[in-house]
Amino acid sequence: MDLSYILNHLGEDRAAHRGAVSPPIYQSSIFAFPTVDAFREGFRDEFRRTTYTRGNNPTVEVLRKKVAALEGAEDCLMFSSGAGAISAAVIASVAAGDHVICVVRPYSWTRAVLRDLLGRFGVTTSFVDGTDTANFAGAITPQTRLIVLESPNSMTYEQQDLASVARIARARGIRTLCDNSYATPLNQSPLALGIDMVAHSATKYLNGHSDVVAGALCASEAILREVFKKSYMVCGAILSPHDAWLMIRGLRTLAVRMERIARTTREVLAFLQGHEKVEKVFYPHDAANPQFGLTQRQMRGASGLLTIALRVGEVAAVERFCNSLSRFLMTVSWGGYESLQFPVCAVYPRDAPLAPAGGGAGLNYVRLSVGLEEPEVLIADLRNALATI
Ligand code: PLP
Repeated sequence: MDLSYILNHLGEDRAAHRGAVSPPIYQSSIFAFPTVDAFREGFRDEFRRTTYTRGNNPTVEVLRKKVAALEGAEDCLMFSSGAGAISAAVIASVAAGDHVICVVRPYSWTRAVLRDLLGRFGVTTSFVDGTDTANFAGAITPQTRLIVLESPNSMTYEQQDLASVARIARARGIRTLCDNSYATPLNQSPLALGIDMVAHSATKYLNGHSDVVAGALCASEAILREVFKKSYMVCGAILSPHDAWLMIRGLRTLAVRMERIARTTREVLAFLQGHEKVEKVFYPHDAANPQFGLTQRQMRGASGLLTIALRVGEVAAVERFCNSLSRFLMTVSWGGYESLQFPVCAVYPRDAPLAPAGGGAGLNYVRLSVGLEEPEVLIADLRNALATI
């Protein structure tokens, strides 16, 4: 199926809607049945039928079909956040006494669901450096049920060799989950490499307009039916029909947005690499990245999220740089039409040292999400801000 067919047409039964080019928003919580027998059928398969919008809704269903096709999955469940999608996938896959292996620096709330939430219910997690596949094999115990991957992650972009990890896991009957938010389905296909479940913060590139918080989970129908029963219907973190419609609209331009963002990011990267005040750039598509070989093997194209380490001696200089940027809005999240900055120092007290005691991202790190602005505008903004340090 070609990409523009998925984005422009798949799942949109226009004949059923008087030819409406944009699908209607089924703003209804419930769907009525003419007979008891039809009602019984509706109950029998809430995963597919439209009975109650906590289970399925026609507008959400259009989106499910599109996101599933983008990931090459049998189906997809949409959630009210990426965190909701990841939590539902994990909760459905483990029970008390089970063991999970997760990459050492996942998204912070992925770590929280494993360590803090499931830790209270008798599930243990080992966090391993996923850049070396041997670490997964070494951490497996007879109780291991799930391996949680995030490739690349969204701050320093470490990757895992997805095909190798999938092989090790499959041989032992262990389920795998990969957060594919950074790459998008356009640039990386974990399911094709043998991964069982793919999660997205659809808030990021998939929607792309900074106006919806959403999540997606793609997998085989059998796995998703299990997730549906064990956590989706229980926790109820569903996407509203209106947000699904906004996401369908956002998806229309996914390919052109990603193409433009990748091109602009190449120019921004070249500028940053040549600047004396930039100590280091973290970006998987940089030839100097230690995992560049894996990037080339595993990913088809680039995104616009990168992190710079500024060559500074004090946090005040980082703050001057960030406060001077005018075209990179300072906030959380990433992946929208507009460029963003996230200064790591903002999550620490004002007098914290540049190198945090526990390791990890330095306070001189600033994450940049490149949007759809003209590259020269972004470069001029960065040049001005760098001149203040
Ligand atoms: N995964 C990654 C890599 C993220 O960066 C985020 C959010 O920033 C999430 C998951 C969670 O997604 P959401 O904010 O949509 O719940």
